[in-house]
Amino acid sequence: MGVVKTIKAFVKHLIAARIYRIRGEQLISQRRGIAILMYHEIAPRHTQVFRQFPVLCTAPDTFEAQVTWLSQHFEIISMDEALRRLHAGIADDSRAVVITSDDGWRGFYQQAMSTLQGHGATIYVTTGVLQGEVPWYVRWRLLLEHYPHLLRVLAHDLGRLEAFRDADSAIAALKQLDYARIRSLWHQAIKDVPFDEASLPKDWFMRQEELPTAVQTGFTIGAHTVNHPILTHEFDEVVRREISESKQVLETLTGMPVRHFAYPNGDHNEQVVRWVAEAGYATAVTTQAGWNRSGSDVYRLRRFDVHETMCTDHWGRFSEAIFALYLAGAFGNLAPTNRICAKIAGGGMQCDR
Ligand SMILES: [Zn+2]
Repeated sequence: MGVVKTIKAFVKHLIAARIYRIRGEQLISQRRGIAILMYHEIAPRHTQVFRQFPVLCTAPDTFEAQVTWLSQHFEIISMDEALRRLHAGIADDSRAVVITSDDGWRGFYQQAMSTLQGHGATIYVTTGVLQGEVPWYVRWRLLLEHYPHLLRVLAHDLGRLEAFRDADSAIAALKQLDYARIRSLWHQAIKDVPFDEASLPKDWFMRQEELPTAVQTGFTIGAHTVNHPILTHEFDEVVRREISESKQVLETLTGMPVRHFAYPNGDHNEQVVRWVAEAGYATAVTTQAGWNRSGSDVYRLRRFDVHETMCTDHWGRFSEAIFALYLAGAFGNLAPTNRICAKIAGGGMQCDR
């Protein structure tokens, strides 16, 4: 961690710890509703995936500390139970959390299996990964970080005068395109570099053989499309196919109805929401942070993004105070401290994968 980042993290933790000491218990006990937590991968800090995808990863010991803390202060429930409470209008009688993970990262599945015994979690699977397909945004990041000159080539292909600053800004631009165009740009990009697609880390993601065991051990399997396209930038027939095909594939593999959906990148609009409902899903989750309460739209459920850097102190250790205040909504509700905290927390408060 650089000096500036360390100082920011130190100040952030100092403020959070102070607020937590004074108002922590009160903030938590006043909370009513259902908080859905969005994880991606769980991996040790020294691994390649952790180093290259810091805003998607949580370290195993941090995850264990979070689950211990969560189970002391909240009820950990399944998505089905969350839906039952939302439908019955009794969500506001709860102080509950649902643990979810997007894309089908294998490290989350394996770690959650041992840590969450008896609690279960919902895994929103991008079905392409089950056949060894690496999600497009993962493969682009690996490619661009390996061949930085492609930041200029890609920018040129997209009609931009200046090269992309980094892989993040390039991927943000790709997210404005439909999936067919992203694929075509990919094939164009790898033509000019000695990049072997077979070298992509396929073992980062779950395989279809793991799904029956996942269901038997208490996981809920939800859908996250086939190819992870940005549904609001996609052609109608592609959107409908991505929504329904992923459901069918997962139902065939698990032998269970698939009732829950996660919008890739959280992006949705009226039409996408309607098609998700028409396909037979009972809920859909976004990446908008916040608590779900009685009356919340079950096709626009809010989720708190969780990853290592948003809940650790300047030493890189899990901070109960920062995590608690984040879930309590303190970064958004406590003026003027919230503005200081939010500013210090910076990009760590947002995630839209
Ligand atoms: Zn995703």
